[in-house]
Amino acid sequence: MAKHLLGKEVTAAMNEKLQARVAALKEKGVSPKLAIVRCGENPSDLSYEKGATSRAELIGVEVVKFVLPEDVTKEALLAQIDAINADDSIHGCLMFRPLPKHLKADQDEICNRLAAAKDVDCMTDLSNAGVFTGKKLGFAPCTPQACMEILDHYGIDCTGKKAVVVGRSLVVGKPAAMMLLKKNATVTICHTRTKDMPSVVKEADIVIVAAGRAGVVDDTYLRAGQTVIDVGINVNEEGKLCGDVAYAKAEPIVEAITPVPGGVGSVTTSVLVGHVVEAAMRKNS
Ligand code: NAP
Repeated sequence: MAKHLLGKEVTAAMNEKLQARVAALKEKGVSPKLAIVRCGENPSDLSYEKGATSRAELIGVEVVKFVLPEDVTKEALLAQIDAINADDSIHGCLMFRPLPKHLKADQDEICNRLAAAKDVDCMTDLSNAGVFTGKKLGFAPCTPQACMEILDHYGIDCTGKKAVVVGRSLVVGKPAAMMLLKKNATVTICHTRTKDMPSVVKEADIVIVAAGRAGVVDDTYLRAGQTVIDVGINVNEEGKLCGDVAYAKAEPIVEAITPVPGGVGSVTTSVLVGHVVEAAMRKNS
């Protein structure tokens, strides 16, 4: 039976450290604050917002919400971002994406309007560049960083290990590969054009799966001794949340695995709040 890498154990340790940092900031008269910008009432945005708000409150980070109508104009949204950039009491900003359909063509311009120093959810090009250059330009994307937090918490050393990332999106797969590289793993990225993916994944010591396809990685891809981090969030035929890894088939084989739910997802919000605390620390250092 595999070791279960549990999000709640990772977040408990992270939250404790973050609470201490917030206390130190408050002693200096700094109160970290997160702005949340939401256009419309998308249920998955609302659900993430609820989780992020309660995690922020638990850690001592203030949250201010800016709820705009679904049909908000580009100009009004840019003005909202400008106001957040200009507000010295706000340290970080989360804006839900994708934006409403009528703003799709302008999404890049709108995202890049946010000051990188407040870009705690990696929506600007500068933040993305930081992941690849290793420079502190903005902040890394929360989900792949959550994967690294899990590896770190459980003392899983990546140095010299073979790592495979399934998925090459800019929000998860590519940055996860860069982060594993930074940890001195030898990294391979798989995608829909990869040939003989089961053999490639079987070679890996560490597997991060972010394909967005329920159960795409099953026992035929896995072997004993592997650590498997499942980023996927899907709803199965019974209406239940499940990952990209066929958990029931994988769990008896591998050395360690994250469950879904209860794995990466719950760590992501602590990473987001951690970025707000870090933004406040950078501003006041
Ligand atoms: P995405 O933009 O749809 O990218 C999926 C990637 O997986 C693509 O690169 C695609 O390859 C690859 N892929 C899809 N099917 C594949 C297959 N059968 N074999 C090999 N590669 C395959 O998705 P994403 O935004 O990265 O998200 C991935 C998953 O993570 C989703 O389930 C999402 O809900 C979840 N997620 C979780 C969190 C969290 O906090 N836990 C946060 C964000 C996302 P191509 O490039 O060749 O198309």
